[in-house]
Amino acid sequence: MVEVSIQNIQVELVRGDITQQPDVLVIVNAANAQLETGGGVAGAIHRAAGPALAEECKPMAPINPGEAVISSGHRLPNGHVIHCLGPVYGVDQPSDTLLADCYRNALLLADEYKLTSIAFPSISTGAFGYPIEPAAGIALDTIKNTLPRLKNIQKIRLVLFDQSDFKIFEEKLRALKD
Ligand code: ADP
Repeated sequence: MVEVSIQNIQVELVRGDITQQPDVLVIVNAANAQLETGGGVAGAIHRAAGPALAEECKPMAPINPGEAVISSGHRLPNGHVIHCLGPVYGVDQPSDTLLADCYRNALLLADEYKLTSIAFPSISTGAFGYPIEPAAGIALDTIKNTLPRLKNIQKIRLVLFDQSDFKIFEEKLRALKD
């Protein structure tokens, strides 16, 4: 785990599973447009939350790339889930702006709901094909640039499934601090 404080907000990197973060109030789903279960993060979140999550989400679907919507957490240890649709790399354009929109909109939505801690997976870097290096840079730059707008959030965690992804996020985070 790597932990830094930027503008008095704790930013953490951990290796692990987004569904196993009981000490944060909201987790972010790398969702599909229909807000249904699927592979990767969405599959893990819907399995852990139970079928009531998809039921609750149905009226909010479809969502657009860059958009974020909020639901409750059902059987997850977290009270809420924020569902973001990342861009399909090279298809939803401009991919960099749309990816940044995901992180910014998720943070602003959590803050609006007065949720003080949030955990993100690496959005778009699985099935949606976004290369991890630029995606990590966009994630961390957007988080940093959004911090001055946050009134309630105290802790932001990025949960990386793979050790190699973790390393890349770690390098980018250290560069961000300097
Ligand atoms: P997208 O469709 O937005 O690309 P994916 O769910 O396919 O989303 O993958 C996003 C990233 O999340 C990938 O880097 C993948 O390795 C990682 N990942 C997959 N399952 C989990 C999980 N349970 N917890 C955290 N990260 C995960």
